[in-house]
Amino acid sequence: MILDKNEIREFLLSMNTVDLSLQKIYDLALSTLKFNGCDNMNAEAVAGTVTDAERDGSVSHGLFRIPGYVASLKSRKVKGNARPSNKFLTQNAIRVDGDYGFAPTSIKVGIPALIETTAKHGVGVLTITNTHHFAALWHETETLAEKNLIGIACTAYKPSVAPAGAKKPLFGTNPISFSWPRKNNTPVVYDMATSTMAMGEVQVAARDGHKIPFGTGLNKDGKKTDNPNEIANGGVLLTFGDYKGSAIAMMIELLAAGLVGDLFSFEAAKQDNNDGGPARGGEFIMALSPELIAGKNWNEHSEKFFQQMKGLEGVRLPGERRHKNRLDKGPRSINKELVEKIISLSK
Ligand code: NDP
Repeated sequence: MILDKNEIREFLLSMNTVDLSLQKIYDLALSTLKFNGCDNMNAEAVAGTVTDAERDGSVSHGLFRIPGYVASLKSRKVKGNARPSNKFLTQNAIRVDGDYGFAPTSIKVGIPALIETTAKHGVGVLTITNTHHFAALWHETETLAEKNLIGIACTAYKPSVAPAGAKKPLFGTNPISFSWPRKNNTPVVYDMATSTMAMGEVQVAARDGHKIPFGTGLNKDGKKTDNPNEIANGGVLLTFGDYKGSAIAMMIELLAAGLVGDLFSFEAAKQDNNDGGPARGGEFIMALSPELIAGKNWNEHSEKFFQQMKGLEGVRLPGERRHKNRLDKGPRSINKELVEKIISLSK
């Protein structure tokens, strides 16, 4: 049987679960992080990101990540009392020094300055350095869109993906997110890894004995396979879209490491202590003001385009799934084993 990533997600949720309100999810994340060495400012930033992910149904970036965050606090790879600071490199370019903390804290510190400078000058760039990132990226791009700005964000990670033509990993799963603001409507936001699939999902398929789409990755002999075991054990993932996705993954390495001045994926892997928490790295965020660049009519004009798109049968806009999930204010079903594991981290 071949399961796609949505089916794998459904399968995970259908396992033994407990219902937790969003407040309880936040409290559990916050108290676990504080117990393990985060101060209030850092714990609040990470717990907020985790809760938003559960709220929107981005389950692979919700509570699932707490054990990894805790591991990196315990190993002292990540500073739980980091104090990120902004520095203006030019009038449009801001650098956040993350002080070796978690990325959500730096994002909270840097984004307000990026919004202010972009609203004034039309274009702004935020480069985040010395942080540890393994959250979803839509948080940052969507925050920009909520202020009527276009957002682009990307980050690199430890290598698990082979560039087109290669049999060995060099790229991370390197996600990129783009947001487009819409007046009187939720923004259009896409946020995607540039690999065919996340390695975590390949591992879940291997554990549960499911095949995955042929060409998701290569086995140790460099042959395309549909066997997740062969990819997870000595094999490698591929980028989506062959050499085209490979070019985008390369661009992300160059923006998030070369331009930001932080670690490329291969450098991050050399420095990481493999504690299961996020490796060190940078993030590139760019904002653009449609009001200042396109002019006053920007929203009406782009709405005509969205109308055309939505008029085509079968089309939905990226971001719609999350925004629909968000309307549900009720509890979320969380894997019971995961909740028990997180509770045990505070004992
Ligand atoms: P998905 O493949 O699940 O989704 C990618 C994007 O496509 C989403 O924006 C989604 O919108 C949109 N989409 C999905 N189906 C459709 C459709 N039928 N029509 C239109 N749009 C659609 O995401 P990935 O598995 O690639 O990535 C998951 C997350 O992992 C991302 O948030 C990414 O940032 C994160 N990540 C983080 C890393 C890190 O190091 N920090 C590394 C790798 C990944 P919608 O949300 O509405 O479904």
